[in-house]
Amino acid sequence: MQDLLDRLVADARVFAAKGSVAAYIPALAKIDPRLVGLALADRDGRVVESGATRIPFSIQSVSKVLSLSLVLESRGEEAVFSRVGRESTGDPFNSIIRLETSHLGKPYNPLINAGAIVVSSLLPGRTAVERLASLLDFVRSAIAASEDGRSAAVMVDEEVAASESATGFRNRSIGWFLKELGLVEGDVDEALATYFSQCAIRLDAASLARLGAVFAFDGVLPGGKRLLSTRTARIVKSLMMTCGLYDGSGDFGVEAGLPAKSGVGGGILAAAKGRFGLASFGPALDGRGNSVAGVAMLTALSRELDLFEL
Ligand code: GLN
Repeated sequence: MQDLLDRLVADARVFAAKGSVAAYIPALAKIDPRLVGLALADRDGRVVESGATRIPFSIQSVSKVLSLSLVLESRGEEAVFSRVGRESTGDPFNSIIRLETSHLGKPYNPLINAGAIVVSSLLPGRTAVERLASLLDFVRSAIAASEDGRSAAVMVDEEVAASESATGFRNRSIGWFLKELGLVEGDVDEALATYFSQCAIRLDAASLARLGAVFAFDGVLPGGKRLLSTRTARIVKSLMMTCGLYDGSGDFGVEAGLPAKSGVGGGILAAAKGRFGLASFGPALDGRGNSVAGVAMLTALSRELDLFEL
């Protein structure tokens, strides 16, 4: 397994030159585009890894599956899906257009920005600080069960959060439009502050693979404790399969056949049912905001280990 990961990481280094880092959030532009890492976590929380897997990075939209999981557990399906749909869009992650034109009257799914901002407003807590704290607690409990003592701490990169808060005009427009539709719970600025901070959570690929394992094993942590109901894990995985890579979800589904969630920080979390949690890191992105090296490595890994879900 180690040899396989080493080979995939070595092969993926060429892809760093084929994409560009997310610069629309100024603080993200500082990352080295040549970094590449790949990690896999098994049922017992053991991690096999290669390359840049211990360098924490901004998880960005990968946080959307974490907040969705916690809100499904704490508030239930009705609270989420009365406000957000479950359909893919084929649009970019930050698109606003369907909010007004669609008959749905709500964001298409919780993994595009509009849906995720609604979900952020539903996290346990009254303020952005309280909601972020509940999400961080949840993430820590998901990782701690298999902590090997070397992994990076779960923290928020305040510089990245402030950088997105200062420049996230489109997300602010989306937030206010959602408020007008009656879909944001409470104060819209608190919901946006929660969203910007959760996107700025820093994790390394080894930790992200452990989070992937939570989904791969339908909510059960290493050691047997259940963190998520089977139903929550399955809902989130289904949405990852259909919407996790935005307007690249269909391509990735056909080629890699894995539920996955990407972020513009260069991370991708994926889950291979009953086998492994997976994570890739490579900050050079394609035009849809997905890691070029990550898509290539996960696709190759899925083929080599026959991880296709379907
Ligand atoms: N914080 C980013 C944004 O809202 C997340 C986008 C992403 O990772 N695809 O633009």
